[in-house]
Amino acid sequence: MTRIGIIGAGTAGLHLGLRLQQLGIPATIYTERAPAELRSARLPNTVAHHAPTRERERLLGVNHWDSPELVQFTFNFAISGPQGVGFQGKLVAPSQFMDYRVYQPRLAENFVARGGSLHVAAVDAAGLEEITQRHELVVVATGRAGLGHLFPRVPEHSPHTQPARLLFGGLFHGMRPPEPLGFQFTIAPGHGEVAEGRMVSTQGFIGSLFLEAVPGGALEVITSRNPNEDPRGFSALFLELLREHAPATFARLDPDAFLLAGPLDWVQGRVTPVVRRGYTRLSNGRCVVALGDAHVLHDPLSGMGANAASACAWILAETLREAVESGQSFDEAFCQRAEERTWETVRATTYWNNALLQPTPPHMAQVFAAASQNPALANAVLETMIVPENALAAFATPETCAAFMARHAHGTAP
Ligand SMILES: Cc1cc2nc3c(=O)[nH]c(=O)nc-3n(C[C@H](O)[C@H](O)[C@H](O)COP(=O)(O)OP(=O)(O)OC[C@H]3O[C@@H](n4cnc5c(N)ncnc54)[C@H](O)[C@@H]3O)c2cc1C
Repeated sequence: MTRIGIIGAGTAGLHLGLRLQQLGIPATIYTERAPAELRSARLPNTVAHHAPTRERERLLGVNHWDSPELVQFTFNFAISGPQGVGFQGKLVAPSQFMDYRVYQPRLAENFVARGGSLHVAAVDAAGLEEITQRHELVVVATGRAGLGHLFPRVPEHSPHTQPARLLFGGLFHGMRPPEPLGFQFTIAPGHGEVAEGRMVSTQGFIGSLFLEAVPGGALEVITSRNPNEDPRGFSALFLELLREHAPATFARLDPDAFLLAGPLDWVQGRVTPVVRRGYTRLSNGRCVVALGDAHVLHDPLSGMGANAASACAWILAETLREAVESGQSFDEAFCQRAEERTWETVRATTYWNNALLQPTPPHMAQVFAAASQNPALANAVLETMIVPENALAAFATPETCAAFMARHAHGTAP
């Protein structure tokens, strides 16, 4: 019997499996699609991994794309419209945009090459019960669809009952990146947000655009029109909207070359953010643990879901190691402890993400305006925004914002 069964070979399941291998705790991964199948699938998302996740990748020995020309040190921020601001900051450690059709298959192959066993099969609720008979503990890491529904919703941490944004992500030709190489995030008040990066992809190192449209706003049309029906017409429409709502990105596009890279290089969707219980008891009496999006699902606005999933995988592996070393069984008390520790790890991301889904409050707008006049403050603001714990503490109230601006006016570290 392998000690741990993991359902799902996404970032949560793979980081957990790879970490358990390092800790000498045998694990088996069950996942619905083989690595080769993923490589030719539709673009699933447009994920940026920030410094803490990249450090875990280094520790796991899966930092295969860790070369200076593929990472992004600069973060360009803008608010478009009449009260618009814009500024650039340099991150202490770079972020990287990864096409998961490149990333997840490679990590799954690493897991297998290191002796792990990967079973390709879609697991349903009955299959899950059967799998619990084969392992001391089963972890469900099936992402935002999959088996997450088995874990009860926690209403007090789940203020949304419907999506706050409609989503579009795609890979495009005809995008010139910001200089120095970096990513761009633009808030279009009342309409949504546009994030732009350069992604390590099946299509090479290519521009990516991610759009979060407020339902009923001007950007919504991009999230519902099928680009494959008229790729040139889609580009023309997108260009028009970017000209008005994300002018900094628009300025770097080549209108003649701006085109989706391929018919599978885009994704549309919507997410209702939800916090679920971190474990549940199945009808056969066995407790299973939830991890990643199956546990806490975020709107992708802050670009933190995968980063949080990785952090939670790491802390769950640590909790398992402690239990193994002290001879504890993986009973309900263990599952409760795992839930406490993963929720503690992801809680700030949830609160920060939900705050970002609201209109920018005046005290934060003031910080952005000040940062646009002060490069030292700009660096501190952007460095803080990619660490949810720090962002929550810094930007919670007018008083914390004032203190933050005073502290960082001359460029002290965040
Ligand atoms: C457009 C978009 C942009 C995003 N941008 C960012 C970003 O910039 N930064 C960031 O951190 N996050 C971002 N996210 C969120 C990020 O994609 C997720 O939070 C992250 O992938 C969650 O990891 P996971 O392992 O929990 O789930 P997933 O990565 O979704 O993996 C789930 C795994 O489970 C498997 N599976 C599903 N159901 C079953 C089943 N029944 N049986 C067996 N296997 C199953 C799947 O095949 C997959 O292998 C974005 C999301 C979207 C949609």
